[in-house]
Amino acid sequence: MKRIGAHVSASGGVENAPLNAQKIGAKAFALFTKNQRQWKSKALTDEGIAAFKANLAVAGIAPEYVLPHDSYLINLGHPEVEGLTKSRDAFIHELQRCMQLGLPLLNFHPGSHLRKIDEEESLRRVSESINIALEESEGVTAVIENTAGQGSNLGYTFEHLATIIEGVEDKSRVGICFDTCHAFTSGYDMRTIETCDETFAEFERIVGFQYLCGMHLNDSKPDLGAKVDRHHSLGEGKLGWTVFEYIMNDDRFEEIPMVLETIDDTIWAQEIEQLYALVK
Ligand SMILES: [Zn+2]
Ligand SMILES: [Zn+2]
Repeated sequence: MKRIGAHVSASGGVENAPLNAQKIGAKAFALFTKNQRQWKSKALTDEGIAAFKANLAVAGIAPEYVLPHDSYLINLGHPEVEGLTKSRDAFIHELQRCMQLGLPLLNFHPGSHLRKIDEEESLRRVSESINIALEESEGVTAVIENTAGQGSNLGYTFEHLATIIEGVEDKSRVGICFDTCHAFTSGYDMRTIETCDETFAEFERIVGFQYLCGMHLNDSKPDLGAKVDRHHSLGEGKLGWTVFEYIMNDDRFEEIPMVLETIDDTIWAQEIEQLYALVK
C-alpha cells in the first residue's frame, strides 16, 4: 500500500511526532530529531526514546515509514576542512539519534560547493562523508534527497545522485528520497502522464528504483526549471494533480514513506485524504 504522511512537528519532544502524525490520518511521517537550525542539541533521554517508540505503536506506524530529516546546517560536500569536519560530525550524530530511536532511514540534502570547489570534487566529498558516517553507525540508511539546484546546491540532476551513490562503498545503506517540487524546479517535467513516464524512466535508467527509499510530495510555486525551492499545496502550484495521481497508482512507489512538505499544515489531513482518493 501507499504510505502517505507529512513532515510533522516534534516540538516539545520527539515523542510528540507520532501523535501529530496520527491526528492527520498519516501512515508515514517525517520529523527533525533535533532543532534543524542549530548545531547543538540536547541528548535524547531514555524516557523520550521509550515514549517515542510507544507512541509509534499507538499511531500504528512502523519505524520503516518514518523518514527523519537532518539539520539544514550540515554540508557533506563542504569545500573547507573545518566546515566539512563539523558537518560530518553532526551527520554522524544525526545517524546515532536515528539508531537510538530505532529508525532505519535518515534523509539529507547532499551539500553545496559554495562556489569554492567544482561540482565533481564536492560530490566526491559527499560520497566520502557518507562512507565515514556509515562506518560510525549501524542499521541506518543514508537517504539522499534530490534538490532544486538553488544557489550552489548539489543533487539537482539524477546524474549527481548516481555519482554520489557510485562513490559509496556500502550500497545497501544508501538510498534516494525523491522530492517532486525539487525535481520539477530543477527541470524534470511531470505535468502530464507522458512526462511522468519520461522522468521516472530517466530516474530508473540513471539512478534505479532499487534506491528509492522515500518521496516528498510537494507542488511547486516556481515554474519548470526555475531552480528555486518553494513548495506549494497539492494542486495549487505549477505541477498540478497529475503527478500525484500517477504516483498513487504506480507500484514503484509502494511501501515507502511519502511525505507532504506542503506549505499549509492545516490542510494536511485533507491532502492525505485527497491522495488516497486518487487510487483507482
Ligand atoms: Zn529536504
Ligand atoms: Zn523535500
